[in-house]
Amino acid sequence: MQALVESSETQRSARLRRSLRRTNAWIVGVYAYETFLLIGFWAIGLISSRITLTFALAALVMPIVMTWAHLTGRSARFKDPTLFVPQYMVAIVMALCLAFVAPQIAFQPFATLFGATAFAFLAPGKRSFYICWGLPFFGAALVIYLVGPRLSMPTATPEARMLTWFVIVGVLARWMGIAKFARGAKARINRKNHELKQALERIEFLANRDELTRLANRRSVMRWLEAQMELSTRTAQPLCVALMDIDYFKQINDDFGHLTGDEVLRAFADVAASTMRATDCLGRYGGEEFLIVLPSTTAQAARDPLERLREKIASRDWSSIEPKLRVTVTVGATTFRPRESMQELLKRADTALYLGKKLGRDRVLVDETE
Ligand code: GH3
Ligand code: MG
Ligand code: MG
Repeated sequence: MQALVESSETQRSARLRRSLRRTNAWIVGVYAYETFLLIGFWAIGLISSRITLTFALAALVMPIVMTWAHLTGRSARFKDPTLFVPQYMVAIVMALCLAFVAPQIAFQPFATLFGATAFAFLAPGKRSFYICWGLPFFGAALVIYLVGPRLSMPTATPEARMLTWFVIVGVLARWMGIAKFARGAKARINRKNHELKQALERIEFLANRDELTRLANRRSVMRWLEAQMELSTRTAQPLCVALMDIDYFKQINDDFGHLTGDEVLRAFADVAASTMRATDCLGRYGGEEFLIVLPSTTAQAARDPLERLREKIASRDWSSIEPKLRVTVTVGATTFRPRESMQELLKRADTALYLGKKLGRDRVLVDETE
């Protein structure tokens, strides 16, 4: 158990490390692209080298600080080890500052604002989510108010037009990244849901089945009986309950071994399941005892099918399991009486079974009491 917890812990931290590496690579890529655009704007004389250099240095600092925080394990001390909020804040503040000091290329930092805010959904909490939106909302308002008509999109020369297009390409690439992330997440959720559904079906199957015989287990067959008793009371349709017990099974175990006993139980279950009607329910009541619920049937009418089953078991060729093996069953059947309890009903079936055993076994005994 301890090992299991540890291994899932290591898996989680490996996943986190992978995600941190990917995020860091993504951030480095974004900053590198923005620096490249600023170098372009500097090259065509739209911004000064000081602005370009300051931005490039600031862009370098953030990934370095993040890598240091992850490598030294300092980031792990925070509630959100990806440190999304500080990274996001820095990106937004840098964009707003750039729009403020270089309004002639403001289209670029504002485009960055659109690109960055698209990631606000990564905010770890509700409060940080609103802070992540509030900062660009009011920050943009402040810059627009303070700088006014000097804010512009560089389009005067063919080079400026090309750089402006590059700005758009950068934002679109970020949106594509998000779309890819969302598609991946959707596929992961679908796969997990499918796995969960399969696991639930398996659990449900195992919870209702007897492991050895694959028949309905006691819990399941009793639930079925309860439902049929209710239905019979409501519709006044008859209902037959039969208890079937393998004769001298202890002897079979003693003579041929427990594993052969198990094999007999499995083979018996196969014969019984294939002989009864699809509407009948057959389950393992316990040990070598089985319960059969036959809806819309009185015990008298059930005598024939039960007799057929008894006969099939007795005449089956058991030599494939053990050359000298012979298997017979005794059955006690009774009809449900409206409003009686399940205990009373099963007690009568059990009494009939007991009588069948006393009378010499290998027979079907139908309870005739009124
Ligand atoms: P009777 O004809 O009166 O029913 O005699 P019996 O020997 O069948 O009845 P008894 O109740 O004395 O013995 C039932 C045996 O069934 C005892 C128990 O060890 C065996 N048994 C119960 N469950 C299993 C099982 O899952 N596998 C095997 N191999 N034996 C089982
Ligand atoms: Mg028995
Ligand atoms: Mg028994």
